[in-house]
Amino acid sequence: MTESATLKMAQKSREMRAAGKDIVDLSLGEPDQDPPAFAIEAAQQAIGENKWNKYPPVMGYMDLRAAISEKFKRDNGLHYAPEEVMVSTGAKQSIMNVIIALAGPGDEVVIPAPFWVSYAEQVRFTGATPVFVPSTLEEDYKPPIHRIAKAITPRTRVLLYSSPTNPSGSVLTQAELEELAAVVLKWPGLMVISDEIYEHIVFDGTHRSIGAIPGMLERTITVNGLSKAFALTGWRIGYIGAPKAVVQAANKVQGQFTSGANGIAQRVAKACVEADPALLHGLREVYLRRRDLVLEGLAHVPGWRCNKPQGAFYVLPDVSASLTGKLRTSADLALHLVEHAGVSLVDGDSFGAPNTVRLSYATSDALIAEATKRLAEAVAGLPKN
Ligand code: PMP
Ligand code: GLU
Repeated sequence: MTESATLKMAQKSREMRAAGKDIVDLSLGEPDQDPPAFAIEAAQQAIGENKWNKYPPVMGYMDLRAAISEKFKRDNGLHYAPEEVMVSTGAKQSIMNVIIALAGPGDEVVIPAPFWVSYAEQVRFTGATPVFVPSTLEEDYKPPIHRIAKAITPRTRVLLYSSPTNPSGSVLTQAELEELAAVVLKWPGLMVISDEIYEHIVFDGTHRSIGAIPGMLERTITVNGLSKAFALTGWRIGYIGAPKAVVQAANKVQGQFTSGANGIAQRVAKACVEADPALLHGLREVYLRRRDLVLEGLAHVPGWRCNKPQGAFYVLPDVSASLTGKLRTSADLALHLVEHAGVSLVDGDSFGAPNTVRLSYATSDALIAEATKRLAEAVAGLPKN
């Protein structure tokens, strides 16, 4: 495996800051706001109760799994029984468990590109082959479904995507999900991993789950977690709803890797999934305003072309025009920008999107304005082609 490009860049920014450099960090996809007060109170209460200190059940506390089962019904129209729910140490581990459970050498996993960095490496770790289906900015970074269909073969075990998508902010429409479901249903045994961790950050319309389409629940592993909706990245809780056989296989994996997720964090998770989802409606407004700010700012960066994200908190400009002289790849450019402009971004190559860089705008309006100003100046100063 290669190192996580997102975490590597975040670490570089931390180190440069510790060395006294003035860095605006748009590398890491991490909400800047505080978690809701009720989540912190739930943690304090759980510690005070002094009864959540032992090994939890590998799959998670049963009352939490039941609460997640209700959440899936309430928010997503997904009818996973509590036995079909499993809690892990972040959505990242949830996905890893499932890929280990479903794929191995000789198998293929189809991944529409651009995709979140860890998907490709997690698939490679199992010995399976990731098969990427590329797309362009003009296609809104969503490969047409017929192109995804062409990539599926008898060796394909899993189709893996996120919507809203990290790194592009693209969102699959209900019509696209239905078209995709029709393709999946033609291949018995093909499973979908639908990563819905950005479900609450959708700017137009509402988030839809592929598992809610008739016939798809048995084929779908739905992934979610606390990191984005509740700004609880550090508590490391993710979860899945999945057919029972998949949950049982993932349970074996987790039992050998971590023994289960942190007990106190699971009590926090219960409070979060039971909270009224209306509490999260404000997220949409905050990120929509920031999306518009970042797009306005990037319009002043010479040569960069932007998509218009419909969700999540990322934008993925095409930076081909800046790849000149010694700056051959988007990784070279990202390194140049952190060192010379003090703005930290992640290169698009790691997301299967060469000639792009990813900006996370989960930060303050002031920092977005400062970062885009610095980018405009630095890029204007690059040698011309
Ligand atoms: N899926 C996507 C699409 C993500 O962007 C991330 C990054 N946080 C994750 C999963 C992993 O989240 P977690 O913090 O729950 O491991
Ligand atoms: N998912 C976030 C990102 O893409 C956090 C870092 C990570 O887990 O990769 O930046």
